[in-house]
Amino acid sequence: MATDTAPDDSTFAVAPASLSAAAALGGVVKNAPAWAVSLLVHVIVLLSLALIVSQPPQQEKARVIVSGAPETLDAFEDFDASLPDDLPVIDQTTDEVVMTDVVPVDNVQVVSTAEDVDAAPIAVELSDFGTETAAPADMLATVGAIGGTAGGLGGRASAAMRNQLVATGGGSSQSEAAVEAGLKWFIQHQLPDGGWSFNLKECPNCKGQCSEGRDKGVGEDRCGATALALLPFLGRGYTHKEGPYKRQLEAGLTFLAGMTVKGNGKAYDKGGNMYSQGLAGIVLSEGYAMSQDKRLQAPAQLALNYIMQAQDPVGGGWRYAPKQPGDTSAVGWQLMALKSGNMAFLQVNPLTVKKASAFLDSVQSDDGAAYGYIDAKTPGPARNAVGLLCRMYLGWKKNHPAMERGVVNLAKGGPSNDLYHDYYATQVLHHMEGESWVSWNNTMRDMLVSTQAKKGHEAGSWFEGVNGGHGADAAGRLYCTSLSTMILEVYYRHLPIYGQQSVEEEFKE
Ligand SMILES: [Zn+2]
Repeated sequence: MATDTAPDDSTFAVAPASLSAAAALGGVVKNAPAWAVSLLVHVIVLLSLALIVSQPPQQEKARVIVSGAPETLDAFEDFDASLPDDLPVIDQTTDEVVMTDVVPVDNVQVVSTAEDVDAAPIAVELSDFGTETAAPADMLATVGAIGGTAGGLGGRASAAMRNQLVATGGGSSQSEAAVEAGLKWFIQHQLPDGGWSFNLKECPNCKGQCSEGRDKGVGEDRCGATALALLPFLGRGYTHKEGPYKRQLEAGLTFLAGMTVKGNGKAYDKGGNMYSQGLAGIVLSEGYAMSQDKRLQAPAQLALNYIMQAQDPVGGGWRYAPKQPGDTSAVGWQLMALKSGNMAFLQVNPLTVKKASAFLDSVQSDDGAAYGYIDAKTPGPARNAVGLLCRMYLGWKKNHPAMERGVVNLAKGGPSNDLYHDYYATQVLHHMEGESWVSWNNTMRDMLVSTQAKKGHEAGSWFEGVNGGHGADAAGRLYCTSLSTMILEVYYRHLPIYGQQSVEEEFKE
């Protein structure tokens, strides 16, 4: 989706990991609903990311990850075997899910053994970071407090939690309805192979009825399109195990996992780039953590391995192709993918995160209140928002002077019609809470509710009124709908970083 000629950083926004780290918690969260897992994950990731940057893991035990198929790859083959041959197709005339014959999914079967230069096996020295930071007893106690008791996590319906957070965070019944309508639009634009395309003419149900599908060529960047389509479902707590779209999400996750395994970790192909890779890393990590479906573990780890290998060894950043000197926007995506993986207790090299932090140092100005694109010279609102959100997740405190200055500047500018900027700035301000958030949210929320398409096949999607940024040019209506939906999920998609205590009190039984 982002092209090699993209002039600036406004192509994508990262979805900071929404969910989950369920795996290592075993029985405690086994029966927990998605919201509980999401809560849990956010608590854990904040603590564990702080550990990444603030102190090296103690008693490092060398672990070697060799890029390539992990031992658990067999599990993914099981995943393939269970791929439904009756993938859902929406009949637009009845608006009902009907089962039709579908084309065989031919890209999820084979694990590449080719010597792809991008995926050349390398050994990555890893500490036992994942296990050593995973849910020690005191974290479990915190999680328990959120749900009343650790064992009581499964006792709440996810809708109840969402509704509470919508009410306390500034959402509305209109914004919630807009989210559901957005998800429905995505369902109606899923392709028979389970994935999505930016080119809406490729969708048998749409055939281009919706304007602003990106017609860049058949099959261009299926990875980026599919990941952007799946993210808003995960943000709402829906997976192939939970929620109203299980079959569709099983097909979508299978498609993305299949691309990743086929590429030996490289999730994108024609038309895609490292932006798409970062998105795929987030989706697979979140999907794995939320669903605890072991079939997703190997694809998710492979995607993260590829990201770690692709880091610029000098500057610590990422750009369109592996090992290029980085830009702030691409770095944001990869960092959020690594964070998602960390939350899912996948293996993430802490040195990779440290280098990424060093990249942010290299592009910051005003002591870290502002961020440039490939250096410190060209700060701008969108780049500032990306940089500040990364800093938040890397442990900067709410009262960090540069954080405070940066947030004031973001709030002063207000929402724009550049969704990339708005997506990041909304998250930054949501985490900070307070008056600035209330004011921002009122404008942002109502702007999105009013600009959502209401008629015809476009109903539930976004483009007009929110297409001011470069990303809309590059990736069209699907991109705009993804970011808009996720902005309206902000109340529950990520808990406020600095507001854990209030949340705990809110939901204490
Ligand atoms: Zn359409």
